[in-house]
Amino acid sequence: MARRFRTQSIKSNYAYRVDELAEVVGVTVATVRNWIRAGLPLVDKNRPTLIMGFQALNFLKARKEKSSRPLGLGEFYCFRCKVPRMPLGAMADYVPSSSTGGRLKAICQVCECQCNRNISAIDLPEICKVLDVATRDNR
Ligand SMILES: [Zn+2]
Repeated sequence: MARRFRTQSIKSNYAYRVDELAEVVGVTVATVRNWIRAGLPLVDKNRPTLIMGFQALNFLKARKEKSSRPLGLGEFYCFRCKVPRMPLGAMADYVPSSSTGGRLKAICQVCECQCNRNISAIDLPEICKVLDVATRDNR
């Protein structure tokens, strides 16, 4: 997942120099230059390099959406595969951490490493429809 940036202080109708945008967003000048290489639009090709606030906002919003991966029912985000995966054998262990929720533990069906997902106890019956869930006592 890409980092979330401080975008609320970017003004749409303001043209920022690279160092100004870096300061407003809270990143280094090098990071802004990486964004430009990755497709952040510039006002023109002249110096100093200027970026319109609304274009920076659109660019960062698009990156954030690209990096967010909503999980399907019964899916786990595998940190080794870096994609959502179904657990091995459609089995998971539920470890309650409070009366309202807990952690589902499963094994990635591809790389067989451990995956965890925090869930609300309300969602457990739905997840039990697609996975074989065993409840474990944490104590
Ligand atoms: Zn995996």
